[in-house]
This record gives sequence, C-alpha cells and structure tokens, in this order.
Amino acid sequence: MTKYTVPRGTRDILPEEVALWQFVEQKAREIFDLYNFREIRTPIFEHTELFLRGIGENTDIISKEMYSFQDRKGRSLTLRPEGTASVARAYLEAGRGQREPLSKLWYQGPMFRYERPQAGRYRQFHQMGCEVLGATSAYQDTEVIVLAQHFFESIGLKDLEVHINSVGCPTCRPVIKERLKSFLGDNLDSLCADCRKRFEANPLRILDCKNPQCNEFFVMLPDISDVLCAECKEHYHDVQNYLNIMRLKYKIKPRLVRGLDYYTKTVFEIISAHLGAQNAVCGGGRYDNLIKELGGTPSPAVGFAFGLERAVLIMQNQKVSVREHRPYLLLAPLGENAGNRAAILANKLRRRNIPLEIDISSRSLSAKLKTADRLGVRYAYILGEDELVDKCGQLKDMQGGSQKKISFEKILEEIENRYQKYRRENK
Ligand code: AMP
Repeated sequence: MTKYTVPRGTRDILPEEVALWQFVEQKAREIFDLYNFREIRTPIFEHTELFLRGIGENTDIISKEMYSFQDRKGRSLTLRPEGTASVARAYLEAGRGQREPLSKLWYQGPMFRYERPQAGRYRQFHQMGCEVLGATSAYQDTEVIVLAQHFFESIGLKDLEVHINSVGCPTCRPVIKERLKSFLGDNLDSLCADCRKRFEANPLRILDCKNPQCNEFFVMLPDISDVLCAECKEHYHDVQNYLNIMRLKYKIKPRLVRGLDYYTKTVFEIISAHLGAQNAVCGGGRYDNLIKELGGTPSPAVGFAFGLERAVLIMQNQKVSVREHRPYLLLAPLGENAGNRAAILANKLRRRNIPLEIDISSRSLSAKLKTADRLGVRYAYILGEDELVDKCGQLKDMQGGSQKKISFEKILEEIENRYQKYRRENK
C-alpha cells in the first residue's frame, strides 16, 4: 500500500469510470450544440473579491467553503467554487454584451468547496453548465430547463423530477424576508443553531436547511409565492406556461431556494431518485443582477450547472453501460524478427486509424492470445518466425476462433476494410 492517498474530498477517476465521463461530456457537447451554446474556458482561480461580490458574503460557500490563498505578491485568490461568476466576469471583461446581445455560453471543469464529504459530495467536483446572458424573456428560463432535461434523458437517466420556484427580485425580496422573519421570529427555539444564525443574516437560506427537526416545522411556513411583486408573478407564470406548452413535467416547490445569493425570480433543481441524500443532480436559475453587481450595464441572465460525479453515479446505480474505446486488433509476434515486422505493421495500421495493441513480449502464443481476450480485440494477427519466410501471418478471429493466412502486403487493406465495416455496423 502506498503511504500517499488522495486528499479528503477528492478522488481519482480510473479508466473504467472515465469511459462514462467521456460519454457524458460528449453527449453534453452535442446537446449544447443543438441549443446553440458556445464553449468558454475561464481560469480555475480568480480574485477572491469576485466570488465575495458575486455569490454573496452570507452564503455557506463564502463563509465556510472557499479555498482561498495568498499568492507571492500577497493577492487573495480563490479556487473557483462555481462557474457562473467567472463566466459573468469574462463576458464583461471581453465586452461581449455589445457584440452579442444574447450570449449563450457553456463551460466545464473542476470546482472546489470545503464541504463535509459524503456520497456524491466532494471538495473537488466537476460541473458542466450553461449561461444565457442578455436573457430577458421567460422563454430563456424554460429553454435551459428543457435543455438540462433533454441532456439527462440522452445519457439514459430515469426517475428525475424538475422542481421550480421563484425567489423574487430586489423589489419583493425584502417583503418575502419580512414575511419569513415574522413567522420564524416567534418560533426561533424550534430551529437548529445554524438556522438561528441565518435568521438575521439571510433568512431565505433557512428554507434550505436539511435538519429533520427544522423540516418538520417548515410544513407550517407561509407560501412565499403570494408576496411576489407583479413583475415576478408574471414572469413565473410565463415560465410555467412555456414549460406546459413544451410538455415538460415539473413540480412547484415553494420552499426551493439555492445556496447562492445572485438568484432572482426563477430557481430550479433536477432531483434524482437514485442519489440518496445528495439528490440534486442539477441546479440553476435566473440572476438578473449579477452583471450589474460586477460593475457592468444591467443584463439579465439565466443558467444552470450539473455535477458530473452525480450524473455518473446515477448511471452506475441505474446500470447504464457505455462502450469503452478498446483496440480492434492485437499484433502477436513470436520472436525478435517477427517483432520488428510487427512494429512496422503497427505503425502503418495506426496511421490508417486502426486502434491496436502490440504484444512485443517474449511470452508464448497462448499467453498472447489470453491478452487478446482480456483486451476484447476482434482479431489477433500472429506473426511466427516460420511464417516470416513467406511474408505471411495468421489472422485469428477472436469471436469465431477461425484462422486465416494473410500476407503482410494484404493485411493492411484487409484489416482496414473489416474495421470500417465494424464501425458502420456499430455506430
Ligand atoms: P450549485 O453550484 O450548488 O448550484 O450545484 C449545481 C450542481 O453541482 C449540483 O446539483 C450537484 O450536482 C453539483 N454539486 C454541487 N456541489 C457539489 C459537491 N460538493 N460535490 C459534488 N457535486 C456537487
């Protein structure tokens, strides 16, 4: 056993699992293309101030989960805990708003939060996300929800639920907070210590508490949706209307709030029945004030992010399997001269895009055929010393077991044709 282990809250993703990740990433890119999103790549660390300003100082992320450090010049930098603030910063810095009134961007990469690790919750995790900047219409809220659901269906996820809510805007948020505070104020003793702290700083976040004792009490909470201002009510109504006409099933969850302060109006989550306690695979919403908050001209926006660890976990729990990219052929030379010939062939075949492995070891033929089985190749091409004389090898069909003598000259053509046929049949 090595004495070095991965840091708590991080994990290695080994090749068997990487196949699932690549499948998820590939599908996500295809779906993002369908909806006309373009990729943006931002740095993994940013000035700490960006997150303080963007995410909100009273959120859990800012108050206890940031990986912040000072660089050699004493500047405070932070490993990004999420992607939206960086995308908004990049959008502003590059002046994209002037060029593209509606910017549809997607990103992917590792995020860092000092959370208590548990199944599906890590300190380094990976997100893919979409942001629509310059999005005024309620249609845009719906489009990102529909996109997320479309994507999860494309990777075979079942038993998902879309939950939506509206958390209001700067006009009605104070009224919502007051309504909550007046109700909670009389009942503070029934709440956990964390919620009592949130009561002053950020009462809306109390709704997000997972403590069972608080949850029992929350059943009696007033519905915040009836104190929304007229504009927020209309927007919420329009979002539901679009969801209805696009036939996307959803549940209204009046207590759904999210862990980041920048959200206004629509918030949503996609929940899986296959995840256990950390059941949200995706979360997002509208953030109409973030760009202004970061110093830009006000620009409404909406977006979401999903967690790759959780998407992959659901696939594993649902036993969704994907085909891993494996070699098609094993070259099995026996002896040194045959090895040289096999090296030349390997080079030529790979340049014809045939994925292959070469077993150059001095092991026996039966050992090499075992390797062919383990790799799951379709064919093994055996090059024996005797056969070198007439410049031929034996092509062994690893499924049927039959064997055929084929010359070095013809093998390139032969394998290429067979591989192309295989590709056509296994698209
Ligand atoms: P958020 O950025 O908090 O809105 O989260 C969006 C999605 O990212 C969640 O629905 C999860 O799928 C994923 N996620 C958030 N935090 C973690 C974490 N600590 N570990 C793994 N996945 C996470």
